[in-house]
Amino acid sequence: MSNHTPDQQGTLYIVATPIGNLADITQRAVETLSFVDRICAEDTRNTRKLLNHLGIKKTLVALHDHNETQKIDSVAYWLREGENIALVSDAGTPLISDPGYHLVKALREMDFQIVPIPGASAIITALSAAGLATNKFSFEGFLPAKEAGRKQALLANIDSQYTQIYYESSHRVVHSVATMLDVFGADKKVVLARELTKLYEQFFHGTLGDLHPWLIDDKMHQKGEFVIMLAAAEIKKNESDVMNSTVEQVLAALIDELPLKQAAKIAGKLTGISKNALYKQGLKLQKSQ
Ligand code: SAM
Repeated sequence: MSNHTPDQQGTLYIVATPIGNLADITQRAVETLSFVDRICAEDTRNTRKLLNHLGIKKTLVALHDHNETQKIDSVAYWLREGENIALVSDAGTPLISDPGYHLVKALREMDFQIVPIPGASAIITALSAAGLATNKFSFEGFLPAKEAGRKQALLANIDSQYTQIYYESSHRVVHSVATMLDVFGADKKVVLARELTKLYEQFFHGTLGDLHPWLIDDKMHQKGEFVIMLAAAEIKKNESDVMNSTVEQVLAALIDELPLKQAAKIAGKLTGISKNALYKQGLKLQKSQ
């Protein structure tokens, strides 16, 4: 049965698939995969297994990192012919550390209709159960494979006020955590999510100093797929930050009655802030009066 009329352009559906547990497929995803004329898939063998599980028979087209740009013209042609097309990756949401960006960008620029069918993604799944701040987070994807590049990438985030989220695979997880330990230090808070939605799903939460031996001491802990989340940097309070309005009020009241040097000394005893910092602040207050 054809799903289109020849004079009407088709739609590209970006369909999220499960990241492990097949029961996480959404009803809309199943309906869309059943309805479309063909499916572009990162690895057609993997998608065929999913479709067999769902009882869906469909034409599959390979669309992966190495042929994505060459496939843009074909997909645009099929859409113009009125076909509806789905894009899926091996797991989770396409384009998120997966192929599809070049295709979607190009087709968006050509004004084709592109409809997302939302579902699982390892980032949000991991973050939702990590217990780290969720108001500001940055998705960093995979770290570079080589130590120098990895270190450089991590150093750029040393003072990040965001929860940082990294993807990692079994053969690199130990190296990446070792570099994180080197860059951020043993006390940095971390949550590692392993094998999300699968039988051996596991969360480690603690510090980088504890995570490294946890990975090394048990080879099982290195198996599977990982999301590593680093807590935002703690804001270091220096004396000027602490110099809040209450301190200023105390200082100003003392300056009214005493010479500045003495006022700074007493304010220092009352607040625990150094008398030198208070003396400088006192000078500023005197100038502004
Ligand atoms: N598109 C996917 C998504 O939406 O999350 C990500 C694909 S990326 C090629 C694969 C990486 O995602 C893995 O190496 C791992 O870091 C993360 N990942 C995917 N599934 C996972 C799972 N079940 N548990 C933990 N991490 C997972």
